[in-house]
Parts: sequence; structure tokens; C-alpha cells
Amino acid sequence: MAEFAAESQAPSAARHFWRGLHGALRVALDLALPPLCPSCREPLGDGIGLCADCWSKLSFIEPPYCARLGIPFLYDPGPGLLSMEAIADPPAYDRARSAVRYDDVARALVHRFKYSDRLDLAPLMGGWMARAGRELLAEADALVPVPLHWRRAWARRFNQSAALAGAISEASGVPVVHGALKRVRATVQQVGLSKAQRAENVQGAFRVPPEEKPQVAGRRLVLVDDVLTSGATVDTCARALLRAGAGHVDVLTFARVVSPARTTI
Ligand SMILES: [Zn+2]
Repeated sequence: MAEFAAESQAPSAARHFWRGLHGALRVALDLALPPLCPSCREPLGDGIGLCADCWSKLSFIEPPYCARLGIPFLYDPGPGLLSMEAIADPPAYDRARSAVRYDDVARALVHRFKYSDRLDLAPLMGGWMARAGRELLAEADALVPVPLHWRRAWARRFNQSAALAGAISEASGVPVVHGALKRVRATVQQVGLSKAQRAENVQGAFRVPPEEKPQVAGRRLVLVDDVLTSGATVDTCARALLRAGAGHVDVLTFARVVSPARTTI
């Protein structure tokens, strides 16, 4: 048993070393090479954000949109109007807002941010989110990032929702409550699942630990995540927060999937 433990530690230490070296090399390379556009990988002139071409392709979500779900409308039906989706299948949360449509540029940006340790993108993305969610943030007591399961957080080394929440907090002054939500079981990746499967996959996956209830009870919270697809994850999170006594739950994501039929005029 002891032998097995010693053996299993050795490769892990080596992996740690190579990972560290890899990180150090990347920092050295980043310093030596001109910064690249996180979307198309072309060198950036001024070194911040996206290149002009990708910037022009990014599709920011602006009013008119559904007052509840934040889905863009083709035409302006007047203030406070709800989409068919919001009426037919109202979510547990009150309102959702997103900075951009989840199209090719947004997908590339999220991917670099999530899987390539491009934490430097957080202030940019968080700034756009703070702008898109300003009416929500004006009334909010705290931000709650959607948690990763620890195994996935370990593999990825950071929680992208927490990083975005930190950046939104910087921009808006609304504090972040870490640990208010816990993922109590691992879920499979939502990619490729139907809407019903997504809901089933995340059902009961989150809860508020008893010792965190005072952070939640009676408060106005904004859930933060990177992408809203079917809304199943944030809906389950909102249910857990409301069950723990939250006064109000809104949702703010960087991007949201908008059906191609909803093209702006
Ligand atoms: Zn670009």
C-alpha cells in the first residue's frame, strides 16, 4: 500500500514540475511575442481586447428584448413585454441578461478564456456584462458565481464564472459571495443534450450549504455564468438559492444562445 502511494506520488510531482515549467515558458513567450486576438489569433495592434475585425463581428445584445429572459425581439413591442418562451415556461429566476449572442466570435472568446487560462480576458468580458446587466446590478446585494464541480475545477484550475463575477464586481461595486452555492454532484457536460436532458442532468446538482444560508437569506442576488444555453443550469441554481431563502434571483451571463430566426433588423 505504502509502495503504491509512493509510486503514485512520483508522477504527480513530475507532472506538477512540467506544468510549472510549461506555465513559466508560456509567460516568457507571452512577453516576447505581440499579443494575439483571442478570437482569430491575429496579432493585436494596441494589445487589448479583440482585433477590429472580430470586434465588428461580435453581436452585442441591446434592447428591445424580453423583459424576463433578455431574448432579443425582432421589433419593439413596448416596455415590459414578455417573449412567448417566458410566458410558456417561466424560469425560477426573475430576469436574465447577457452581453453578447453566442456566435462564432463569442464562442472563440469563451473557449480561450475557459480552456487556455486567458484570465486576462476577464476584465473585458466582465465589463461588457456589467453594462448589459446594469439595471440588475443597480438593485443587487451580491453576485453568486455558478460553481464548478471540484474535479472539473481541479482539471481546469479556475472557475470561469468566479473570474467573471470578480470582474463584474470591480466594474459595479457589487460584492461577490463565494461558496453560497455548492455543486453536490458532478454533472455531464451539457453540450449535445436536449433541453429536457439538460434539465434532468442538473436537477438537484446544487445546494446552499447550511452555514452559507445567512449570506443568501432575504438578499437580492445575481447569478453569474459564462454562457446561457437552455437556462437549465441557472434555473437549478436559482431554485436552490430561493429554497435557501433568497429574496430575489437574477441571472447575468457573458453570452446567450439566440435562435437564428431572431436576427435583428
Ligand atoms: Zn480577431
